[in-house]
Amino acid sequence: MTTVAAYAALTAKAPLERTTIERRPVGEFDVLIDIKFAGICHSDIHQAREGWGTAIFPMVPGHEIAGIVTEVGPGVTKYRVGDRVGVGCMVDSCRECDNCKAGLEQYCVKMPIWTYNAVGKDGEPTYGGYSENIVVDENYVVRIPDGLSLDVAAPLLCAGITTYSPLHHWNAGPGKKVAVVGLGGLGHMGVKIAHALGAEVTVLSQSLRKKDDGLRLGADHYYATSDPKTFEDLKGTFDIILNTVSAPLDFDAYLSLLRTDGALVNVGIPEEPVHVLLSSVFGNRRTLSSSGIGGIQETQEMLDFCAEHQLGAEIELIGADQINEAYERVTASDVRYRFVIDAATI
Ligand code: NAP
Ligand code: ZN
Ligand code: ZN
Repeated sequence: MTTVAAYAALTAKAPLERTTIERRPVGEFDVLIDIKFAGICHSDIHQAREGWGTAIFPMVPGHEIAGIVTEVGPGVTKYRVGDRVGVGCMVDSCRECDNCKAGLEQYCVKMPIWTYNAVGKDGEPTYGGYSENIVVDENYVVRIPDGLSLDVAAPLLCAGITTYSPLHHWNAGPGKKVAVVGLGGLGHMGVKIAHALGAEVTVLSQSLRKKDDGLRLGADHYYATSDPKTFEDLKGTFDIILNTVSAPLDFDAYLSLLRTDGALVNVGIPEEPVHVLLSSVFGNRRTLSSSGIGGIQETQEMLDFCAEHQLGAEIELIGADQINEAYERVTASDVRYRFVIDAATI
C-alpha cells in the first residue's frame, strides 16, 4: 500500500480537509495515474453530504479525473508510462452480465464499482480523484486525445459522457430541436455537444443571467423558466429535453414542451422524490426516460468526438483549499461552468 495525500469529508457535515489515504499496490492489469486535474461534479456534493442516503466516510470524492500514467502492471497492454488518461465514475464492474458484455458497464446488474463511496473487489473502500494519484484496472481507463488539454478534459469524464450518451441515444442531430434544462456543469456540455451534433439547441435556465454564455456555447435560443410565458410559447416544441437540474422540477410543465414522440431524458438526480402525472406523459405518445453516464467504449468515443470538435469544458481552476467554497457556489448555481481542482495543490 502507498500513502497518498487527498482531500476528504470525514463526516457528512464536515468540510473537506487534507488527509492521507492508502492506495493499493499496482496489480497485474493496473495502471498508476498521477492525477493532474479533478472536476467537481454536483454528484460529489450530493454524496459528501449524504443527500442520496448513507455514504462511506472518510470520503474522497472526484470522478472527473485526468492525469498521466506513471506505472503499469506486467499484464497491461493498452497503456504505457507517459500516456494521458482519464477515469470517470466507475473503476470496475462484474464484466460478466449482459450489460457489461454490451459495453454498458454503467448499468452492470451487480452494480459498477463506483470511483468513490463504494467498496472495491479487494474489499477496501474506493477513493476518488481529489488526491495525488489513483490505481485503476486498465479496462476502466480511457485515453485523452492530444487535442484536449487535461484541465478542460477532466469534466468530460462525467459531465461530457452524461450528456453525450443520451443525446446520441435519442438521435440529437440536424432537424432535431433539443432543450437543455439547467446551464451548469452537465448543461453547458449538453449545449456544446448538441450543437456539435447539428441540433437546434434551446437553453431553459432559471433566469436570463447566463444568456450571453449560453448563446456563445452554441445555443440558438435561451429562455427563463421563471417566466410562465416560456411554457406557453414553447408548448409542443422539442424532440428531446435533457434535464440536468440537481433539484426537483415540475416535470408536468416540462413534458408539455415535447412534441409528438418527443422524449424528456432526465439525468439530474435530486435528493427528494419528484411528482409526475402520468397524463402528462400520455399525451402525444411522449417518453419520460433517464440516462446514467455512459459505458467505457462510449466514453472513449465521446472524448474523441470532443477532441475533433474542440469541445473542452469551460472551467474555473481552483486550489484544493478552495473546495469547500466551490461546493457552496455549485449549490447556489454559481458555477461557470465547472470547478476543476489543480491536483498539484493537494
Ligand atoms: P450543477 O453544475 O450544479 O448544474 C445544475 C444546474 O441546474 C444549475 O447550474 C442550475 O442551472 C440548475 N438548477 C439548480 N438548482 C435548481 C433549482 N432549484 N431549480 C431549477 N434549476 C436549478 O450540477 P451538475 O454537476 O451539472 O449535475 C446536475 C445533476 O446531475 C446533479 O443532480 C448530479 O448529481 C446529476 N448527475 C447525474 C449523472 C448521471 O449519470 N445521470 C451524472 C452526473 C451528474 P440554471 O442556473 O441555468 O438554472
Ligand atoms: Zn458526476
Ligand atoms: Zn456487470
